[in-house]
Amino acid sequence: MNSVKGSSRDGPVLVTGGAGYIGTHIGAALMKAGHRIVILDNFSNSTPLAVDRLNSLGLGCAELVEGDVHDEALLDRVFSADRFSGVIHLAGVKAVGESVAEPIRYYDINVGGALSLVAAMVRHQISRLIFSSTATVYGDPAKLPVAEDASLQPEHPYGRSKLMIEQMLQDVAAAQPWMRIMSLRYFNPVGAHPSGRIGEDPKGIPNNLFPYIAQTAVGVRDEVRVFGDDWPTPDGTGIRDYLHVMDVAEGHVAALTHLIDGGGKSGRNLAVNLGSGHGTSVLEVIRAFREATGREIPYRILGRRPGDVAAYWADPTYAERLFGWTAKLSMAEICRDHWNWQSANPDGYK
Ligand code: UDP
Repeated sequence: MNSVKGSSRDGPVLVTGGAGYIGTHIGAALMKAGHRIVILDNFSNSTPLAVDRLNSLGLGCAELVEGDVHDEALLDRVFSADRFSGVIHLAGVKAVGESVAEPIRYYDINVGGALSLVAAMVRHQISRLIFSSTATVYGDPAKLPVAEDASLQPEHPYGRSKLMIEQMLQDVAAAQPWMRIMSLRYFNPVGAHPSGRIGEDPKGIPNNLFPYIAQTAVGVRDEVRVFGDDWPTPDGTGIRDYLHVMDVAEGHVAALTHLIDGGGKSGRNLAVNLGSGHGTSVLEVIRAFREATGREIPYRILGRRPGDVAAYWADPTYAERLFGWTAKLSMAEICRDHWNWQSANPDGYK
């Protein structure tokens, strides 16, 4: 194969899973920062309409490749076509309950997909990789806020699949000292692009709190189900570190810029938290959403959801030290933008 090898400073960025919720926002931030992007997505949990919307924002035109990260021949074709400046790997599956029921599928898609991708990067000598990891790798943290050196004890196959990928990438980094790899551990990305044109469009009943609240506010759901008010927290409901998806997206741009400018560490897959550093309870989120939108948000207290933990929020200081990133947008801005998207698109991209 006539392969174009090596990373460049200003080649395009490959965003796997780039048609999804977080991917479209990263695409918007990358194009705004002047990057060209190529999206690779198999649309298993997304739609090409999301890429059309992304391309209608006036930020640039993402190239779309429909396909799967397991497809070695396809990756070879993509990487042979241009000298990529880096890869952001988001493609994967992420529903905790589903991962318990279908662990083989989860390990195949998440671990197998990442392995196929990094193997292709090694074949084509593409050095910069940012992997979409999760705060779930920490499990139920012993200490708050959670820093990167906390113990790693994910409690379900989804979390373990993400941790396995981090470990695999560490081994690859050690064996390929020319590579620069970073795993960004997201806390709870929520909100939407301020245009209201792209946002989260979960299939079926949302697992996560924010889309459930937004669908309740717009009338698609009757009431929010609050999973437990007997947690050891001030109001008894679970506490999480919610951060605006555009802050998450800017975190990727900052991390990639850092790698392009010679940052990262030879031999290491650097794990970095992306969080706001603040915890908010379920009832506080419902209140903030009500205040930001003027909508009634009926809710009902139910029992605890299996696998949940009481509270966690990030120590986000490493990201600031390493590549100068902090989450800037407030809970009020998160609710405003999430509502902007949901109210303009009550049925998502359909
Ligand atoms: N939660 C809830 N109702 C829902 C979804 C979530 O009360 O319909 C709670 C959940 O128990 C947790 C918090 O909201 O305390 C955030 O849950 P989410 O699924 O959004 O994110 P997680 O932190 O579990 O990944």
